[in-house]
Amino acid sequence: MKLKHLSLLIILFLSLQVSSLSSQVVTQTKETQSKITPQTALQMLKDGHQRFLEGKMLQRDLLQQVKITGSGQYPFAIILDCIDSRSSTELIFDQGIGDVFNARIAGNIVNEDILGSMEYSCKVAGAKLILVVGHSHCGAIKGACDDVKLGNLTALLTKIKPVVESVHTDGKEERTSKNHEFVEHVAEANVLNTIEQIKLQSAILKEMSDKGEILITGAMYDVETGELVFE
Ligand SMILES: [Zn+2]
Repeated sequence: MKLKHLSLLIILFLSLQVSSLSSQVVTQTKETQSKITPQTALQMLKDGHQRFLEGKMLQRDLLQQVKITGSGQYPFAIILDCIDSRSSTELIFDQGIGDVFNARIAGNIVNEDILGSMEYSCKVAGAKLILVVGHSHCGAIKGACDDVKLGNLTALLTKIKPVVESVHTDGKEERTSKNHEFVEHVAEANVLNTIEQIKLQSAILKEMSDKGEILITGAMYDVETGELVFE
């Protein structure tokens, strides 16, 4: 009898936990998006990542979110991430349907099309944050370090080459993908370079950033630990 009561209590406790997690889920609307500042947007991604690390992801009814966002989307950020299968944006930031725009391209570089997508996300659709995410053990970075030539990939890697050249070594160190530390330094420098290129190549985004309407920042993702280090 006592055991029965105890198990009932446990079930009640667990269901309260689940419902409190569900109640934290916000599906973005025009109203909620308008209240988010660039700093809040960054904090929301940091909080989401912390939930991911602790295994405390929010319990979302994704189909319910589909219904809510079906007539319009109001994401609070655009994340530029590598295509790497291990750095899936919505998973590592614990986000749901309609929360973030995604631009994914090998080596998280920008070109005219990515910049146009960012301008749409921020200027037209109201996103408050551009987060550039690089990661450890990045194949694109290794390819650029090794000067790989392969079909259309050659042109993409050309955009990372100046970053490879910019990373200093003491002369004895190997400047290829065999040098893990060098590759990681290039990956970090590449995130910073992408942030710089966004401001250099997009007058719209630079102006929004200067006015404090958006924040443009970066982070590095460790594919071995699942941890992000924000700039
Ligand atoms: Zn990568």
